[in-house]
Formats: sequence, structure tokens, C-alpha cells
Amino acid sequence: MAVRLRPEEARIDLTRLAANFRAIEAHAGRPLMPVVKADAYGHGAARVARLFEALGAPLLCVAFVEEGVSLRRAGVAAPIVVMAGVGPEEAGEAADHGLTPVVATPRTLEGALEVGRLRTEPLRVHLKVDTGMSRLGLTPAEARSAARRVADAGLVVDGVLTHLSSADESPGVASAQVDVFDGLLADLERQGQRPQWVHVANSAGLLHSRPSQTLIRPGLLLYGLSPRPLAPPVKVRPVMTLVGRIEVIHDLPKGTPVSYGGRWIAPRPSRIATVAVGYADGVPRTAAMTASGQMNVGGGRVPVRGTVCMDFTMVDVTDRSDVREGDEAVVFGDDPTAWEVADWAGTNAWQILTSVGLRVPRVYTEEGRVVAVESRY
Ligand SMILES: *Cc1c(COP(=O)(O)O)cnc(C)c1O
Repeated sequence: MAVRLRPEEARIDLTRLAANFRAIEAHAGRPLMPVVKADAYGHGAARVARLFEALGAPLLCVAFVEEGVSLRRAGVAAPIVVMAGVGPEEAGEAADHGLTPVVATPRTLEGALEVGRLRTEPLRVHLKVDTGMSRLGLTPAEARSAARRVADAGLVVDGVLTHLSSADESPGVASAQVDVFDGLLADLERQGQRPQWVHVANSAGLLHSRPSQTLIRPGLLLYGLSPRPLAPPVKVRPVMTLVGRIEVIHDLPKGTPVSYGGRWIAPRPSRIATVAVGYADGVPRTAAMTASGQMNVGGGRVPVRGTVCMDFTMVDVTDRSDVREGDEAVVFGDDPTAWEVADWAGTNAWQILTSVGLRVPRVYTEEGRVVAVESRY
């Protein structure tokens, strides 16, 4: 289909993505189950998941059933673990698409049992235990009895997991959680259950992995950003670069208000560039962003001026006579990074990546060459 691409795009460097995968796998010394929920953190789940599969990931994981279904439609054959679990009403879909349920609540235990009834071969499930996050997961006692119920119904407990609440903030809390988890593993073993896949570590949790853990469950780090304030456990590079283009440049007299509400008023004669990328595309619209946000034009930083709009953001190029209409402006990538933008906006890098809008075409590159463009329009 012929599409007029919008002047903004998200470049996804598949060469870097593969390098990040290999670096994390080598560092961890065990297989990775890449997290490709939320459209692979905005990078486009279909293409990203197929790459991870080709690189040898034994399993992939998503949050919700529909995310798993869309990966099956994209041709992914590897086991897909549904971390939020499968409710009874979703059991048919999950069974039809061969998804792997996580048993994380009483409701998803019923859902998994229903999927098991619908499948002919013994269904493999993962059991999630809450060790201190208070989000999803069974208590250790519930997990022991769920493991028995699942086995009695002919299902296989193929995996067991927990999620760390503070791996990037408090090593003591993380290691106490892992102690509780290891206690449950020992209990399961006494029940005669020894799951193949034992997984705890998200990106930050890489620092807390123990030999009993057979699988690592990273998201952010694969996409090239380290959880903070940790020192990066392994060297990775950002995969996505979000760019817009300068539509027009205006020379404004001193005292001219810029953008909605006139919240920024030119304190001197100013050259203001209107960049075709806005909050619907992933530029955060917060007062802090207006106050301290920057974009990169032609290798140098320029400040954001006035309120970020849905489709446009204004930047100040008064001191940059080299900048022309049609030039590219980098919202985030190598410089600035998604973490810097997150700091300006008062959020985190996860939210910056997952906020890149659906209308932004994803342009995939390998070794610097464009290999595919995916656009919803
Ligand atoms: C999202 C998620 C991950 C990945 O976390 P990162 O910090 O991005 O590595 C891992 N495990 C669970 C349960 C998650 O929800």
C-alpha cells in the first residue's frame, strides 16, 4: 500500500537489538525469555519477537492473552507465556493459540485448568508466587496447593516465578524476596515438582540471580536502557530513535507568546522551529518538559519552548543559524536518551518507550540499512 509517511518516525535498530540480546545472555550465562509486552515496549512486537525467536530464545512473554494471539498471527512458534494469566473467559482463545498460562491468582488458576481441559496434550503452566510485590501471585501456601491441583488435573508445572519489587532500589529487599522464593522451590521439590523454568530476574534483577534460576526475564535492558540508579549490569545500546522533522521556522519579535496558553514568551528576538512530533507521538506533555526538555537537531541540543501540542513541538534555534526547515529533530535515542526525557518529564524510561504513538511509522534497520517499514496508516 502506498502510504505518505508522516514526517516523524521511530527507527528501530535490529542490529543493536540482537547485540543487546547476545550481551545479556552472555552476561547471565543462561537463556533469556524476552519480555515483548506492550508491543515490545513500543518497538513492534511481531518483528522483535521473531528476531528473539531466531536468536534462540526458548520462550517469550507478554502480559495479556491478546498480545500472545497477535504474536501467533505474526508467525511466532515459540512458547508464549502470558504473565497476567488467563481468565476462564479467555481460555478458548488461549487454547486455540497454544499460549502458556501463568497461574497468578485464584481466577487465573481456574482459567488455566479450563485451558488444560480444552487442550489434548498435557498443558504446561507457570506458577507465580508473590514474595513482596503485592500485585499478582499466589502466597507460598496457595502456590503449593495450586501446584497439586494443577498436577492432579493432568497439567504440568513447567515454570515457577516471582517478581522483584525493588531490584533497582534496594538489594536487601530483593534478596529477602529471593529467600522466600527459594523456600517455595524447596517445598515444591518435596512435593515431587521440579519445574524446568525458574525465573525471577527482570532487567534490574540480573544482579540478584542465583544458580537456582534457570531463565532471565528482561525487558528494558534488551531495548538498550539500564534500570536506574543501578550501574548498568551489562553494556547495551538504545534500540529506538524517535525523530520528528522541522516543518517551518519563524522569526519572532521579542515578547511573542508561543503555543497553547502563551506560557512561553520570547524574551528576545527568537528563531522558533515547529517540529512535527507531539504528545500523540510520544513527546511527554508535562510542565517540566516545557521547562527543561530538549531535542537534538544536527548534533546539538535545542530547548523546547511552550506547551507540547498533540502533533507539534516548538524548539528554540535562535543560536543555531545552521538549522533549516526539513531538518530532523531527535526526541530520544542516543542523545538525548529516553532516560533524560523521562527525567525532564518526571517519569521513567519504560513509560517514554511505551508512549510512542500508534501513528508513528516503525522503520526497521539492519547494519544501518532500512529493511522494513511498518505503519498503521
Ligand atoms: C514487565 C515485566 C518484566 C520486565 O521488566 P524490565 O524491568 O523491563 O526488565 C519482567 N517480569 C514481569 C513480571 C514484568 O511484568
